Amino acid sequence: MTTILLGTNNRKKGIELLELLSPYKIDVLTLADFDRKLDVIEDGQSFIENARKKAAEYARFFNMITIGEDSGLCVDALNGSPGVYSARFASIDNNNINASDELNNKLLLTKLSNITKEKRTASYTCAAAIADQTGKIIGETEQYCKGEILFEPAGNEGFGYDPLFEIIEYHKTFGSLSPAVKKAISHRARTIRKLIPIITNL
Ligand code: IMP
Repeated sequence: MTTILLGTNNRKKGIELLELLSPYKIDVLTLADFDRKLDVIEDGQSFIENARKKAAEYARFFNMITIGEDSGLCVDALNGSPGVYSARFASIDNNNINASDELNNKLLLTKLSNITKEKRTASYTCAAAIADQTGKIIGETEQYCKGEILFEPAGNEGFGYDPLFEIIEYHKTFGSLSPAVKKAISHRARTIRKLIPIITNL
């Protein structure tokens, strides 16, 4: 059994990744399993930069093989925004508010209010890097999941922008699809599947 660290504080992401890796006899700890805390500032200009930074810094600090991941939503009509700012989208224009999923989704709908259905294409991106205990990056990848932003939310599954993000082939949002479908086709699932051979070779 290999034990690796997943450098995330997002409990739902942690659960998604744990489910993807457990069939490979890979035990996963997350930052929540430790009393010691390290804050890694996500100041990269790209998902992969942030993923590398998180992997390397957490690996050195906890002395464990670590996956760093960064993900977000890129909307074509907004030139790829919110991108690396997905989690704090609603607080960028308004520093006084704490960006919640609800406020982020509301802002996204406002910004797209004049955009027609055909032009509401978007993709979720997930970049991940894996670092050894010295912080050396030993593998990395970036994968995508394509969709379209609806005019109103649908469904309560998932998190973040899931109620607005429709998978075109299914005519349903990640908020309405079962978690099993998301586990099969999401940006995170595709990314982690690419890293599995590296982890199993360790
Ligand atoms: P991170 O925790 O810095 O990687 O920020 C990721 C942010 O991107 C989340 O807070 C969500 O707003 C968005 N995001 C990333 N992956 C997903 C997903 O699978 N569903 C919905 N929103 C996501």
